[in-house]
Amino acid sequence: MFWIGTGWKMNHTAAETRAYVAELLGRLPPRPQDVSVFIVPPFTALAAAREAIGVAPLLLGAQNMHWAEAGAYTGEVSAEMLAKLNVRYVLVGHSERRAMFGETDEVVRLKLDAVLRHAMVPILCVGETLEQREAGAAESTVAAQLTAALADRGREALDSIVVAYEPVWAIGTGRTASADDAQAMAASIRGELELLGGEVSRTMLVQYGGSVTPDNAGELLACPDVDGLLVGGASLDADKFVAIASSGT
Ligand code: PEP
Repeated sequence: MFWIGTGWKMNHTAAETRAYVAELLGRLPPRPQDVSVFIVPPFTALAAAREAIGVAPLLLGAQNMHWAEAGAYTGEVSAEMLAKLNVRYVLVGHSERRAMFGETDEVVRLKLDAVLRHAMVPILCVGETLEQREAGAAESTVAAQLTAALADRGREALDSIVVAYEPVWAIGTGRTASADDAQAMAASIRGELELLGGEVSRTMLVQYGGSVTPDNAGELLACPDVDGLLVGGASLDADKFVAIASSGT
């Protein structure tokens, strides 16, 4: 079974989202057996997506949220607001948020706590920059991000978290990690998870994200430690996303 989702970033209005969902539902198998597909629209399109999905087997994700329950946080959205829309996944620590919006490891941890409090599934995004990779620090960077987010959590919490390995140098650049690199890092992530949570290292879902296209999706999904894909740019086009999601079937 694979878990494959979109990452639309700041793209698609509510009306465009309705049209996209209709196209996706028309083209994906009605009850895909081997793949669980989710879309991650911007906040303004979540309600439209929810309505358009109805009872179809397409899950909903959100791109971000604030960790506080409610209050004077102008412009922010809370976990409860997302949970009430039946949002299943929330991206936490996406590299664009870390780099452009100052999201630190501490903030990432607070957000993970809030997502879990509201019984949704955080997708914890981790990944190294090109400089870190070239300095031989890719694995230690990712290990430090995992430790900051996951240390001292009980089994129940760890069982509810998904990790997305998204090398920063591959996001939106057209440069994908090779299947060997993706597999090596996914295995290293499981090694780190073993230290943090023992058995959970075998069951936690580890996705890959970074310039996934219909051409490379199949080989990335063939990596034994990769359980799914997060697709940014290529998922904006429903045709391409259907082709990618179909690589998992
Ligand atoms: C992303 O934003 O998480 C992502 C993987 O983007 P892209 O596929 O465009 O590299």
